[in-house]
Amino acid sequence: MIKITLPDGAVREYEKGTSAFDVARSISEGLARKVLAASINGEVWDASRPINEDASLKLLTWDDSDGKSTFWHSSAHLMAEAVEAGFPGVKFWVGPAIDKGFYYDIDMGDKKITEEDLAQLEKKMNELAKQNNNYVRKAMSKAEAIKYFTEKGDEYKLDLLQNLEDGNITFYTQGNFTDLCRGPHIPATGAIKAIKLLSIAGAYWKGDEKNKQLTRIYGVSFPNQKELDEYLMMLEEAKKRDHRKLGKELGIFTFDDEVGQGLALWMPNGTIIIEELENLAKQTEKAAGYKRVVTPHIAKESVYLTSGHLPYYEDSMYPPMEMDGTKYYLKPMNCPHHHKIFAAEQRSYKDLPLRLAEYGTCYRYEQSGELFGLMRVRCLHMNDAHIYCTKEQFADEFRAVNDMYIKYFKIFGIDKYVMRLSLHDPAHLGKKYINEPELWLETEDMVRKVLIESNIPFVEVQNEGAFYGPKIDVQIWSAIGREFTLATNQVDFAQGRSFKLEFTNQQNHPEIPLIIHRAPLGTHERFIGFLLEHYAGKFPLWLAPLQVKILPISDKFMDYANTILQTLKNADIRAEIDDRHEKIGRKIRDTEMAKVPYMLVVGEKEMNENKASVRRQGKGDLGAKDVDEFVNEIITEIKEKKAD
Ligand SMILES: [Zn+2]
Ligand SMILES: [Zn+2]
Repeated sequence: MIKITLPDGAVREYEKGTSAFDVARSISEGLARKVLAASINGEVWDASRPINEDASLKLLTWDDSDGKSTFWHSSAHLMAEAVEAGFPGVKFWVGPAIDKGFYYDIDMGDKKITEEDLAQLEKKMNELAKQNNNYVRKAMSKAEAIKYFTEKGDEYKLDLLQNLEDGNITFYTQGNFTDLCRGPHIPATGAIKAIKLLSIAGAYWKGDEKNKQLTRIYGVSFPNQKELDEYLMMLEEAKKRDHRKLGKELGIFTFDDEVGQGLALWMPNGTIIIEELENLAKQTEKAAGYKRVVTPHIAKESVYLTSGHLPYYEDSMYPPMEMDGTKYYLKPMNCPHHHKIFAAEQRSYKDLPLRLAEYGTCYRYEQSGELFGLMRVRCLHMNDAHIYCTKEQFADEFRAVNDMYIKYFKIFGIDKYVMRLSLHDPAHLGKKYINEPELWLETEDMVRKVLIESNIPFVEVQNEGAFYGPKIDVQIWSAIGREFTLATNQVDFAQGRSFKLEFTNQQNHPEIPLIIHRAPLGTHERFIGFLLEHYAGKFPLWLAPLQVKILPISDKFMDYANTILQTLKNADIRAEIDDRHEKIGRKIRDTEMAKVPYMLVVGEKEMNENKASVRRQGKGDLGAKDVDEFVNEIITEIKEKKAD
C-alpha cells in the first residue's frame, strides 16, 4: 500500500500502482470525469500514470492552469493526427500549449496548407475527438526511439532526441498518431469538445531565420461549445478595441521610423489624456502628503554602479554616451535621482515619511522583437514615487499606497484585479537576492499582513522578488477580460544602504530608511494603451480629448453655435464646432465615430429658445436643454470623474 496526501492534508491509502484517476474515482465519479491531469509531488503527470510510492497529489481540472495547458497540448497532438491524416508524410517539430490554446510547427514538405484547409482540419479533429482514443504513454530506450524515427525519416524528432537522456524518453500515442513527448496528456480525446483553428503562420525552425521555415498552425480548444463561443466573441471584441488601431483612429499616438522604434509620439489628443492623468495623480498625491520633484533624464555611470543597475540591468539600458571622459546613461528608472534628493539634506525621524513623486521619463532598451504598440516601448513616463520611512511607519505607508491603487481602480471602473506578492527564495540569497535572510522574512511578513488586513485579493509566488526586496505586481483585467500587468509596488531594504541614506532616529543614532517604490498608474504608455482597450476608445467625459461637439444644422446658425462654444470654453470645457457643409445626419454619424461624449445640435428652434438638442455617446438623443443648465451638468460630471 502507498500513502497519498491530498491538498486538504487528508492521507489515504491505496494499492501500489494506483493512478490519480483511480484516486478521483474513489472520491466521486463526477470528479473523475473532470480530471485532466494530476500534480504528483509538484510535477504534472498523466492522470492514468501508475503511482508507486507515497506522494502528495492534487487533481487538475479545467479550472487549473496546468489542467488547461495539458488539455491544449493534447489538442496539439490531436491536430497533428488530423494533419497527418490529410497530408501524409509531413513532419512535426514541436507542439506546445501557449497562454491561450496551442500550436504545432510542421514541415509540410512539398505540400501546402492554407487558411481554407483549417475548417476541414477542424472537422477531422472533431471526428477523431469523438473516437475518444486514450493517450497512451510508453517509455522507450534512446536506441529504440532513434531506430523508430530513423525508419520514419524524421530528422526533427531525431534532433530533439539528441538532447534527451536515455531512461527519460517517452512516446505518446492516440489513435493513429505517435509522438515523441514527455507529456503529460489528458486521459482521452473525448474531453476535447470544441475546437477552433485560428491561423497559420511561418516559423523558422528553432526560431533561427537561417533555418528552414516551418508552417505553424494556431488553435484553441475547450471542454464545451459555450466557452469556445464566448472566447471567439472576446477575440472579435478585442480586435475592435486593439489600442494600436484605436490610437491611430482617435489621434492619440504615433510612431515614426526616423524617431526610432518603441518611441511613442503623443499627438494632441493623447497629450490631453496625459495631462488629465497627471492632474489626477498630482491631486491625489498632494492629498496623501507627497512632495513633487523634477530630475534629469541622464546620469553618470557611477550612480548606476551604486544602484546595481549596471551590474544587473545593463541589458535593458541604452548604451552610454561619453562626455569629458565620463559615461552618461539614459535613466532606466527614477530611483537613483530620488535617493540623491533624499541624501541632499540632513534628515531626522521628524522628516519621515518623506514621499517624493515625479512623472519621470525613463528609457529601457527592449529587444525590437518584444516591442508591441504602447505595451512594450523604449521610452516611458512613469507615475513614480519613492517613500522613505522607518520600520515603524512601514505598514501604514504600505497600506496607504494600496488604498491609492484601489481608489484609482474605482475611478477607472477596474473591477477585477489581483495583487501578486513575489517573494525571495533562500536558495538564491547572495546571487539573485541581496543576502539579508532576516530582513527578507520580516518585510515579506509586513507586506503580507497589510494585504490580508486590507482584504485585497492576492497570490504569493516564490522566487520572483526584486533583487532588493519583495514586490507586488498588480494584474488588472479590462472590460472585456483581457489581462494586463499594470504596475509594481516594491519594498526595498537594500538601496538605502548602497546609497548610504540615513536619518537620525529618536535615540539620536543614524538609521537607514526603508524605501517603497510605487507607481499605481504605471506608465502613461501602458496605462493609456490599457484605457483605450478598456473603454473601447469611448473615454469618460473628464478624460475625453474633445468633450463636446456643436453641430449647427446649417450656416444660418453659426453665430449661435459660436456663442455656445464661447460659453463652453469659458467653463474650461473642450469643445469644437462642426462647420462643414454636410447634412446633419452625416455630422452626427461622424461625431459618433470620433467617440465624442456630447453633441449639441442647434437649429432654428434651439436658437429661439436659447437651447441645444443634446445627444450623448452611446445613449442617443437626450432632448433639448437650456445651454447653461447643460454646462452646469457636465461640469459636475467632469468634476466627479463619472464613468459615463
Ligand atoms: Zn505531447
Ligand atoms: Zn524606484
